[in-house]
Amino acid sequence: MSEFVKSFMTEVAAKNPAQPEFHQAVEEVVESLELVLEKHPEYRSSKILERIVEPERVIMFRVPWVDDQGEVHVNRGYRIEMNSAIGPYKGGLRFHPSVNLGILKFLAFEQVFKNSLTTLPMGGGKGGSDFDPKGKSDNEVMSFCQSFMTELYRHIGPNTDVPAGDIGVGGREIGFMFGMYKRLRNEFTGVLTGKGLNWGGSLIRPEATGYGSVYFASEMLATKGQSLEGKTCLVSGSGNVAQYTIEKILQLGGKAVTLSDSGGYIYDEAGIDREKLEFVKELKNVKRGRIKEYAEKYSSAVYTPVDPNKDYNPLWNHKADCAFPSATQNEINGKDAQNLVNNGVLCVSEGANMPTTPDGVNIFIENKLLYGPGKAANAGGVAVSGLEMAQNSMRYGWTREEVDNRLKMIMKSIHQTCVDSAEKYGTPGNYVNGANIGGFIKVANSMMDQGIV
Ligand code: NAP
Repeated sequence: MSEFVKSFMTEVAAKNPAQPEFHQAVEEVVESLELVLEKHPEYRSSKILERIVEPERVIMFRVPWVDDQGEVHVNRGYRIEMNSAIGPYKGGLRFHPSVNLGILKFLAFEQVFKNSLTTLPMGGGKGGSDFDPKGKSDNEVMSFCQSFMTELYRHIGPNTDVPAGDIGVGGREIGFMFGMYKRLRNEFTGVLTGKGLNWGGSLIRPEATGYGSVYFASEMLATKGQSLEGKTCLVSGSGNVAQYTIEKILQLGGKAVTLSDSGGYIYDEAGIDREKLEFVKELKNVKRGRIKEYAEKYSSAVYTPVDPNKDYNPLWNHKADCAFPSATQNEINGKDAQNLVNNGVLCVSEGANMPTTPDGVNIFIENKLLYGPGKAANAGGVAVSGLEMAQNSMRYGWTREEVDNRLKMIMKSIHQTCVDSAEKYGTPGNYVNGANIGGFIKVANSMMDQGIV
């Protein structure tokens, strides 16, 4: 680590104590940007870096709600409005017991660069709560979402801040929150994305992150004259991103063999075909069951529960060509990354945000894997959210083909930006530098144009 990065990170750590994920995300970006700052002293003198790590606004609030037994619960709600240099704040809401300020700040920070890469006019934000929707009735989830929006509505709006879904926030939660926003404001606007098709949603939005991550992998493979046809793929998670990642892998002739949730993972050597994928969608989106039930239904699959004593995740230790981490942050450590390399994996496309630890990232880069970091590879979700905003503003909806084609073009363009930026700054093939630099330049120049704000 250079002296510059070391002293910058010492300040960030001192100013943002107990936020390890935020430090991790900032350090990765600052390391890449060192190359840019040498060529652009004006960014240094305008303190662009110091400003970009400081959220424009952080909102934290109490979310009280009552369960089906009449018991009162109190959760904490957050919205991080990170950067609005190129458009209204935009980024998902996460409902998960692990949510805290540092995790949301890392996500909001990455979102700034990701949104810039999409080519669409969207700033960066993120929010959520430590509420756990697992095991709650629909009524309890509604009660929570309504209470959450009773505060959040003051801070968001179609030209200010437009949240979307993330872990634990899917169509059901977006519906409850949109209903409450509309009631409080007496306004039908595109204030959230990921809405239902009957009330302002966009076709392809549910599919977008997973499809986009596979399009990104296809682009990376194409640089080596390869495609997904016949490739064996490891996928983690079993939620929104994982499901549509597998759907697109199947469409492109690949074979997915794993899925997971926080309880464990399944390995299905025969491959997760369309029928099995439909079972997973029903299991996860309607019955809200556990991935273990997949192995109870299909004898070709083996279920392995999480073993907290293991220092690696066996999901990443199978023979495969490609890996699509699609569950959560830091799910691939150094040992997992080495296992992937040893098993012949040549391409990793991150559907999840920051799923690989820094030593894992180094192993991918040293071994010259085609490694697409989350802020580039999973930008398809927010890109189609941007397209949903555009359709809402026009009060018009595009067809499935139209949106899917735009998504494909955007992923192609993000890939090209990464390749070009990495090359321009002397690290060809390094998609981490490519994504960080490509995303940063537009935001930095906009901040320069807008003065010290
Ligand atoms: P989701 O539908 O809620 O699914 C999340 C999946 O990951 C579930 O299978 C969940 O298992 C698992 N998971 C979550 N936290 C975990 C943990 N701490 N340990 C182990 N497994 C865990 O969420 P999603 O929308 O697919 O999001 C997955 C990832 O993609 C996240 O990193 C998210 O930030 C990223 N992402 C999402 C979008 C989007 O449009 N949705 C866009 C860009 C990036 P359990 O059910 O057992 O918790």
